[in-house]
Amino acid sequence: MSETKTFVPYPEVPDAQGNFGDYGGSIIPPQLKAVMDEISQAYEEIRRDPAFIEELQTLYTHFVGRPSPIFHARNLSEHLGGAEIFLKREDLNHTGAHKINHCLGEALLAKKLGKRKLIAETGAGQHGVALATAAALMGLECDIYMGEVDIAKEHPNVVRMKILGARVIPATHGRKTLKEAVDAAFEAYLKDTDSQMYAIGSVVGPHPFPMMVRDFQSVVGREARGQMMEMTGRLPDALVACVGGGSNAIGLFTAFLNDPGVAMYGVEPAGRSYERGEHAATLTLGKPGVIHGFKCYLLQDEQGQPEEVYSIASGLDYPGVGPEHSFLKDLGRVQYHAINDLEAVDAFFQLSRREGIIPALESSHALAYAAKLARELGRETSILVNLSGRGDKDVDFVVEHYGKKYITLD
Ligand SMILES: *Cc1c(COP(=O)(O)O)cnc(C)c1O
Repeated sequence: MSETKTFVPYPEVPDAQGNFGDYGGSIIPPQLKAVMDEISQAYEEIRRDPAFIEELQTLYTHFVGRPSPIFHARNLSEHLGGAEIFLKREDLNHTGAHKINHCLGEALLAKKLGKRKLIAETGAGQHGVALATAAALMGLECDIYMGEVDIAKEHPNVVRMKILGARVIPATHGRKTLKEAVDAAFEAYLKDTDSQMYAIGSVVGPHPFPMMVRDFQSVVGREARGQMMEMTGRLPDALVACVGGGSNAIGLFTAFLNDPGVAMYGVEPAGRSYERGEHAATLTLGKPGVIHGFKCYLLQDEQGQPEEVYSIASGLDYPGVGPEHSFLKDLGRVQYHAINDLEAVDAFFQLSRREGIIPALESSHALAYAAKLARELGRETSILVNLSGRGDKDVDFVVEHYGKKYITLD
């Protein structure tokens, strides 16, 4: 064994300005910069405050149901004939996905800052529902901006937000989808930054959000590390997670970044094809650029404007990606691959039928890649997949569009 690569420890990131190497930062107008600085300062004080940490941990335990279990998917592993596959069950969290982890953190911070209202945009409504849940619990008002087109498409989530007491405010200009919802939400936010706090839905946006959301999600990896040691006596050989903005992936990865024996894989959506507008494989096909106040890999046109993106999993269709993922890609610490719609749907049915777990279409991307990797790594190895959410939200869509191939309807 003469060839041992020296392992370089993962640096403490971001720096005080929110830079993850060449990525991140805070590329925003002065008025917004002042507001983000306030949030940043408050968060710096609070992040190591034992009372804050304990309060959040108590909510994780008693409200979310943490720690989420790890499940050894024996049937699936046996069928694939390679690595043993383990699932971190974020789908079992209250509200059915990992997003509640950071929404509770953001809501708790808003409360400490004396804010009255949480404000956010949502695309498919997943972030909106998680935030409306946190707001209800903390006694905060909640305004969710959503494109008119998405409101029509995502009826169940719109109803959920309203039941939870949030206001769903339609964005009616332009293409009436996520980008317009972001515009509308920021406009409303800037009108009153004293009583409102913007709550971003992933590890994206200007500093301190990529750091803050990462910190709140890192509970996933901290738990998983101990659970894998307890279950198998060692760390997994590989981690796999889907990447939209990148919060569930970074949440799992963070606790393992200084374990040289743990390989990490982020999985992006290859959609219908690699034609422009037909995928959202940002780290695979994008180039560094600026979106929503930060620098990252970006799917962009010749003018540097974000491109249209698409995925069967609406939680993954973002033209940018978290700055820390951009940094991790350049470092080579994490490998990023893409999985297309059909592969994801196949993985969706495979887990449902072999293990009795219906996964979210987002998580199905991670599962599809893990299946390929399991065969590559072979027996006597293990892969831990972040099962970021449950698939109840996707069942009608999947059966309507892909049911024929999998289900015999009589
Ligand atoms: C929103 C969502 C994602 C994608 O967001 P990340 O920030 O990349 O984690 C993945 N899985 C589920 C279930 C989601 O709801």
